[in-house]
Amino acid sequence: MTEDCVFCRIVAGEIPASVVAEGERWLAFRDLQPQAPVHLLVIPRAHVESVAELEEADDLGAVLLRAAAGVARDAGLEDGGYRVVTNVGEEGGQSVPHLHLHVLGGRPMRWPPG
Ligand code: AMP
Repeated sequence: MTEDCVFCRIVAGEIPASVVAEGERWLAFRDLQPQAPVHLLVIPRAHVESVAELEEADDLGAVLLRAAAGVARDAGLEDGGYRVVTNVGEEGGQSVPHLHLHVLGGRPMRWPPG
């Protein structure tokens, strides 16, 4: 755990979150400022800054992607489709430096993103 990391504090139960699902290595909860009718975040329990920090030998990235597909399915997004996105660094628009996948759905998504 990284003391000043908001997502580590959610994992530790120190900050409340609207958790929708969890696994051994991950947690999924509702985004505080939803950008779509469904906006969930899937995060690893362990502190990893971003996808850029994933270890080659670790399957954490695959675990998180499977979790994202599972929470999207459980949220009823499979028929209409949905978007999974992860921001990296300042220019990538990352505001919380703890790896997270955004799962967005419930409205048509535009491309290119802003
Ligand atoms: P990013 O800008 O890609 O780093 O995404 C961070 C996301 O975390 C934003 O969409 C925020 O709304 C969301 N967020 C920040 N703090 C919390 C929190 N305590 N609970 C739920 N979502 C949060």
